[in-house]
Amino acid sequence: MQRLHALSTLLMVGLLHSPLSLAATSVADMRDTLDQLKATSTASELAYELTESLTTEVGPRMVGTPGSDKAIDWAVAKMKTLGFDKVWIEESQADLWTRGDTNAQLTAPYPHKLVALALGGSVGTDGKTLTGDIVRFETLDDLKAAAPGSLNGKIAYVAYRMERHIDGHGYGKAVGARVSGAAVAAEKGAIAFVMRSVGTDDNRLAHTGVMRYKDGIRKIPAVAVSNPDADLMDNALKRGQPVTFSLQLGASGPTGKTVRIANVLGEITGTTNPDEFVLLGAHLDSWDVGTGAIDDGIGVGMVMAAAHHIGQLKQRPARSVRVLLFAAEEIGLIGAKDYVARHGDLKNHVIGAEWDFGNGNIYELAPGVGPSSLNAIRDFAAYLTPMGISLASTNDAKGQSDMSLLGEAGMPAVNFEPDGSDYFDYHHTENDTLDKVNREALVNNTTVYTLFAYFAAQSGVDFRQ
Ligand SMILES: [Zn+2]
Repeated sequence: MQRLHALSTLLMVGLLHSPLSLAATSVADMRDTLDQLKATSTASELAYELTESLTTEVGPRMVGTPGSDKAIDWAVAKMKTLGFDKVWIEESQADLWTRGDTNAQLTAPYPHKLVALALGGSVGTDGKTLTGDIVRFETLDDLKAAAPGSLNGKIAYVAYRMERHIDGHGYGKAVGARVSGAAVAAEKGAIAFVMRSVGTDDNRLAHTGVMRYKDGIRKIPAVAVSNPDADLMDNALKRGQPVTFSLQLGASGPTGKTVRIANVLGEITGTTNPDEFVLLGAHLDSWDVGTGAIDDGIGVGMVMAAAHHIGQLKQRPARSVRVLLFAAEEIGLIGAKDYVARHGDLKNHVIGAEWDFGNGNIYELAPGVGPSSLNAIRDFAAYLTPMGISLASTNDAKGQSDMSLLGEAGMPAVNFEPDGSDYFDYHHTENDTLDKVNREALVNNTTVYTLFAYFAAQSGVDFRQ
């Protein structure tokens, strides 16, 4: 009896403290609660209300601007109002960069003002106007193949146009020029780097985004021009006459200064396994030119609303749901790097999902979990079938954006794939504003995240297995 008692005590201790001991709960067992959450979330526009609040009351949230700090306070206050059990911030530092005014023109074949934006991190022209003939390259690889010195005194231009695809994979092929084009051009002697915007639209709006210099290589100004302006340059160049570009750019380049940033965290505490976390992520920072409604205001709204819906249940799930609003995603996943450095092996992070891919309805669940837990994912995916969501045939997801660093650090992840066909029409432009938000899809996708977080927190499944 005594020994039995000791054993049961041990078992109880195990039950409370071992991450593997939570009894598995099937989707069938939790169907009533899932149905209830689905009804609550489908009837709620909380994600939109939060996006409206963030973009109106805080506005753009680029690192180093007042909006960046204001967003931290906004998120903390909202999470408290929404009834999160714990709310805190984790501060770190990021490099300061500032944008000034841009004046870009063609001076030949005729004077014509162009629409251009500095790439994030670019140096400016020190108040001077810099003028040179354009040398066109179809791709970054073509620029790389140029002979050293062949661009002396010239302006290098990469004309590659991003392709539109439902899963956004055209971005990967286009973004390399943005990140390293200026460094490559400078190595060949260019005085500035111009590129066609990484974007799928035909608006006269340029797309910004982060770029990097190389140590030991001269830092030259880097701008993106709008797609229609790039078309004009391409057609003018086809005539075989010189096309001359002049640029006045008021950007700071690397300042050597750092500024405070902070990840904002909020938790709905689990009942039996509060130290095991299901992570919902989005990034709180944005670029400065729009208000960051789509990138990533709606992600912030979605994950906060999803956790709130779960927090409103009479009976909380077993594990905790942790909302993680990342800092400084746009300038290189700085907040995510800090999180991984701070939280070690992430062993108590059972699974995570981020939202950072815009406006479309989710059509696919792509898991990245251990083989034994795939059955549970399959059951959950079947629950989502009536919402038009199917299970991907792959099992190697690492999580979107910031969350990919947690995935690489060993945390299981799920990627919810939306129709991203129009995402790169607005991405990093002045057009990333509230009116572009698809409210219906936002309700739908918030519901998917609510259901996922509850399922993962209540299931007891070890997604590493
Ligand atoms: Zn984003």
